[in-house]
Amino acid sequence: MKTLVILGSTGSIGTNTLDIVERFPREFRVVGLTAGSNDEKLEEQIRQFKPSVVALSDPAAAARLRQRCDSLPVEILAGQEGLVQIAADTQAELVISAIVGGAGLVPTLAAIRSGKHIALANKEPMVMAGKLMQEEARKHGVRIFPVDSEHSAIFQSLEGHRREDVRRLILTASGGALWTVSREDLPHITPERALQHPNWKMGAKITIDSATLMNKGLEIVEARWLFDIPESQIDVLIHRESIIHSLVEYEDRSMIAQLGLPDMRTPISYAMRYPERMKLDLPSLDLTEIATLTFCQPDHERFPCLQLGYESLRVGGTMPATMNAANEIAVDAFLNGGIRFTDIPEIVRSTMDAHTAKSVESLDDALSADRWAREKADAFVHALTR
Ligand code: NAD
Ligand code: MG
Repeated sequence: MKTLVILGSTGSIGTNTLDIVERFPREFRVVGLTAGSNDEKLEEQIRQFKPSVVALSDPAAAARLRQRCDSLPVEILAGQEGLVQIAADTQAELVISAIVGGAGLVPTLAAIRSGKHIALANKEPMVMAGKLMQEEARKHGVRIFPVDSEHSAIFQSLEGHRREDVRRLILTASGGALWTVSREDLPHITPERALQHPNWKMGAKITIDSATLMNKGLEIVEARWLFDIPESQIDVLIHRESIIHSLVEYEDRSMIAQLGLPDMRTPISYAMRYPERMKLDLPSLDLTEIATLTFCQPDHERFPCLQLGYESLRVGGTMPATMNAANEIAVDAFLNGGIRFTDIPEIVRSTMDAHTAKSVESLDDALSADRWAREKADAFVHALTR
C-alpha cells in the first residue's frame, strides 16, 4: 500500500490521479489533499477518499469546508502554510505535484526537502527553480518522476539506454487550439475559442499555454532540468494527433518513442507505480484506425513563445522564472478579457527584455524574480488595457 498526498487534487491532473486510486483501492491510500478554493469538490473527495488532513489555499473556502465537515475525522488547514504542512509533515511516500503555476513551488520544494518522492505534473516550479529542485532532490534521496506526457515519454524512452548515447530529445507538440488560425486572425481570438484543445482536456491555464506554444517553451526548460541535458539537444516537432508523446534520438540515429492515446492516466500511473505498469482498463491505441500520423516544424512567427523558452535557458538563472511569471499574468489577463491573444507573447518578451538575470541559488532568488516579473508584467497589462 503506497501512501499519497495530492497537491491540487481538484484539478484535471488531481482528479485523474484519484480516478486511478479509485480503481486500485488496495494499492494506494490518500493521506492528504490540497486545493486552491474549490471547497465543494474537496468535500466530495474527503467523503470518498478519507484523507486525514486537507488544505485550501483560500482561507474563506477553508472556513466554509470546516463548517460542513465538522463531524468528519479530517483536519482542515488553510493558506500556503497549510499546503506546506501537508507536503512536508504527512507520512506520505509519494507527493503528486499538480497545482497549476508558480504557486506549486513552495509546497513541492517542501515535499522534496522532507524526503518524499515526487510525481511532477506541475511544470512551472521546474521552470522557476529546476536546478535548485534537482539539487535538493539529490541531497534528500528523492526521485522526481515526470507526469507531463512528453517527459514521461522521454523518461520511458531513456530506460535501459546509456545516457552518453543520447543525441537529442524531441518533444512533440499538438500545436494547440489555434494551429490552423492565420496570423491576421490571431489577435481576434476569444478565450472560449483558444480553450478548445483538439486532443486533451486540461485546466484553462495549460490549455492557453498550448495555444500560444508557451507550454512547449516551459516544457523545454522542464526537460532541461528533469533530464540534465542542454537546450541545444532539445528539439520540438509539431504532431497534431498527440499519439507519439515524445522521442529520444541516439547517436546511431535510432529513435525510441512512446505512443498511446491522449489520456493522462497512463503517464500518471507510471509515475505512481514506477517501475511497474498498472493494468489500466482503458481503450487500446488502434493504429489502423489512426492510419496517418503527421509532423511539421513549429511556426515561430505566429507562435513566438516557443523561442522564448529557448532564450530563457540560454540566458539562464532567473530568466525562466521571469518568463513563467510574466506568462501567468498575461494568460490570466487574456482569460479575463483584458488583453488580446497576441499580447501574451509581447508581454512575456517585454518582461524578459526588462530583466537582468542572476543565478538561482535559493528559493528566495526564484521567488523574488517571480514577484518582480509579476509586477512588471502587470504594468504592461495595465498599459494595454488603459
Ligand atoms: P487545473 O487548473 O485543472 O487544477 C489546478 C489545481 O491546483 C486545482 O486543484 C486548484 O484548486 C489548485 N490551485 C490553483 N491555484 C492554486 C493556488 N494558488 N494555490 C494552491 N492550489 C491552487 O490544472 P491542471 O490542468 O490539472 O494542471 C496542473 C499542473 O499540471 C499544471 O502545472 C499543468 O501545466 C500540469 N499538466 C497538466 C496536464 C493536464 O492534462 N491537465 C498535463 C501535463 C501537465
Ligand atoms: Mg505536456
